[in-house]
Amino acid sequence: MASILVVDDEAQIRDLLKHMLTASGHQVLLAENGNEGCRLYRQHQPDLLITDLVMPEQNGIDMILELKKAFPAMRVVAISGGGGITGSFDYLPIAKLVGARHILKKPFGMQDLKAAVEDVLATD
Ligand SMILES: [Mg+2]
Repeated sequence: MASILVVDDEAQIRDLLKHMLTASGHQVLLAENGNEGCRLYRQHQPDLLITDLVMPEQNGIDMILELKKAFPAMRVVAISGGGGITGSFDYLPIAKLVGARHILKKPFGMQDLKAAVEDVLATD
């Protein structure tokens, strides 16, 4: 069992991930933007951060960069449907550059998420 922080501005995605991860036996914390995600990560220091990239307040890339300074060994899985201001920019490769172990393009299958989570939790 691991503690996992899920950050996404879409309530539907947060609920879906919470349901799926809880069913796998994990403890799940939810945040709806990067600011809240930063605050909860610092407070609880979960085993894994799963984050959306395009969000109001603070985006996922900025949140990862900020947290990496304090927690260099942080484990991250990034999820995104692309988008952003132009609607076509793909942030996932940038997430990988800033330290996300896995990147998943929405919509992804639950098996893909499960595999990514298990893999990232199995590594130091
Ligand atoms: Mg979003």
